[in-house]
Amino acid sequence: PAAAAVAAMVSAESDIERVLWTEAEVSARVGEVAAELAADLRARPEPAVVVGVATGAFLFLADLVRRVDAPLAVDFVRVESYGGGTESSGKPRITADLKVDVAGKHVVVVEDIVDTGNTLSCLIAHLEKKGASSISVCTFLDKPARRKVNVQLVGDGKFYSGFECPDCFVVGYGLDYGELYRNLPYVGVLKPEMYKKD
Ligand code: 5GP
Ligand code: MG
Ligand code: MG
Repeated sequence: PAAAAVAAMVSAESDIERVLWTEAEVSARVGEVAAELAADLRARPEPAVVVGVATGAFLFLADLVRRVDAPLAVDFVRVESYGGGTESSGKPRITADLKVDVAGKHVVVVEDIVDTGNTLSCLIAHLEKKGASSISVCTFLDKPARRKVNVQLVGDGKFYSGFECPDCFVVGYGLDYGELYRNLPYVGVLKPEMYKKD
């Protein structure tokens, strides 16, 4: 956001025009997704590796895995494609790699939102190269209207999604604008004057 907008910001909440999903709605839906994922992971012979995409997925991953009663490892990667505005560059890069070895493992990629699909296809190719035997995707939000690249799951991987998101730029529950608003416990749309004019 413009420097003036940051200076004027006294609370993240006051910059929100409209709430799409409240804290209670988010919590209820995360519980449902966790139950579905837990049932699938418990059916597997080996622990899965849950891979969060930093930074956006941090809250969703934390809320999700504490409700999944199955053996699993947690790790993070960083994939960057955004300059800091509201449009993806379309050329994502892995800027921080895994610590956990995923060779021969079932991997569950946890994302904040799937928009064009570029980030996810880059990451899935990367995990496949590392020898993951199957890859599922668990995204908090899905914006199918904006998809440019189909999400190619690997092996018997599944696609889990919290909410279908309308075609607008949203913040909160991990999602940022210029690194701000990730701490909001709900998902909303910013007031139009909050966006940098460029
Ligand atoms: P994709 O590569 O699928 O186009 O974009 C995925 C990434 O773009 C997400 O992980 C997220 O960081 C960012 N992104 C896409 N749509 C939104 C949105 O509505 N709000 C925010 N804050 N980030 C978004
Ligand atoms: Mg993301
Ligand atoms: Mg972002």
